[in-house]
Amino acid sequence: MEYFLTEQQQTIKDLARKIAEERVLPVRAELDENEEFPWALMKDLAEADMFRVFIPEEYEGMGGGCFELCLIVEELSRVCSGVAVSYAASALGCLNLLEYGTEAQKQKYLPDIASGKKLAAFALTESTAGSDAGAIRATAEKTEGGYVLNGTKQFITNGEVAELYTVIALTDKRKGARGASAFLVEKDTPGFSFGKKEKKMGIRSSSTTELVFRNCLVPEENLINKPGMGFIMTMKLLDRSRPGIGAQAVGLAQGALEAALDYARQRVQFGQPLISQPVVQDMLADMAINIEAARALVYAAARTVDSGVKDFTRESAIAKVFASDMAMKVTTDAVQVCGGAGYMQDYPVEKMMRDAKVTQIYEGSNQVLKNAIALELRKKKVK
Ligand SMILES: Cc1cc2nc3c(=O)[nH]c(=O)nc-3n(C[C@H](O)[C@H](O)[C@H](O)COP(=O)(O)OP(=O)(O)OC[C@H]3O[C@@H](n4cnc5c(N)ncnc54)[C@H](O)[C@@H]3O)c2cc1C
Repeated sequence: MEYFLTEQQQTIKDLARKIAEERVLPVRAELDENEEFPWALMKDLAEADMFRVFIPEEYEGMGGGCFELCLIVEELSRVCSGVAVSYAASALGCLNLLEYGTEAQKQKYLPDIASGKKLAAFALTESTAGSDAGAIRATAEKTEGGYVLNGTKQFITNGEVAELYTVIALTDKRKGARGASAFLVEKDTPGFSFGKKEKKMGIRSSSTTELVFRNCLVPEENLINKPGMGFIMTMKLLDRSRPGIGAQAVGLAQGALEAALDYARQRVQFGQPLISQPVVQDMLADMAINIEAARALVYAAARTVDSGVKDFTRESAIAKVFASDMAMKVTTDAVQVCGGAGYMQDYPVEKMMRDAKVTQIYEGSNQVLKNAIALELRKKKVK
């Protein structure tokens, strides 16, 4: 399928593929096995200016958008989505800052994110507030010169490895979600520490860690936008970032299809390669069809996000749900095509199947997103 990439987009995509194949591929199994954060690969990505892609030029970035980010995430995920997520979480961690930050905040923080010197993270989820994000309990009490943060965030991607955190906390408990605000919190701020590091089914090289705030004083100038805007900004941020999860799903499904194809060509049973079997051909063809359909949706959603239109909740949710369900199916079928070998860790497809699962869960589970899509349908907002 031709997606009419610009010269710059094609260059970015090609470079991401080169890094994925030359640098990520040789170490992906080891990183997964050891649950090791890919520091060296983050450095490679930084040296290749990949973190500049999603930052505007005036803050030492390259001025790309959601679409360019998706191209990179897809290529990295084709080889290892743990590495892709560690990279993409830095973009997620500064989306609120990019959209709503003051000039001083942007000047202070974005150049170091663009250079890859510092990673960022986004912290919303708590033990009692997952899908029901409006139920957060972390508080940010106004005090002289700033806000005092108390509470615990869980399952935070890039937790502990990031230097900059966008944290959502209640500045007005009585108002619930409408009393939530967003803060930029630096890693070394007194009162900010790290709790449990999760052991995960998939994307095991990424860091997923608890953030603990105990009387953590955040300066007034680190509030993003106005008090009370935290929840609204978060909903918009997730609309922007969900095509990236779709791209992760497309990339890892593509990697699984390629691995399954290789295996089906080489493996001989009943005197002929597996790929000669019509039932196997049917599975492979279905995989290819669904990957391409998901890619087209994800690219369209990402281009919609970048187009400047105001509301893209539905487009973004549809792309994320379709692509993640597709990735789960495709990676499961890839294991099936590879048979017993596919179930073993010597082959990459079992990792891809484990990695795919989370794309159906995070940044809005598929059930919750279907609720949102259905709500729009009920309101007859069908385009
Ligand atoms: C690896 C990983 C990384 C993450 N990274 C981050 C991060 O960087 N920052 C961050 O803030 N959060 C992060 N999260 C949290 C993630 O966004 C939540 O896990 C997700 O939103 C789901 O919330 P939950 O886990 O509490 O599940 P729950 O909300 O408890 O849901 C459990 C199940 O119930 C279903 N369900 C819930 N409500 C409804 C409903 N109304 N209708 C139908 N079904 C429903 C869900 O679909 C799900 O299947 C991460 C999670 C994981 C697993």
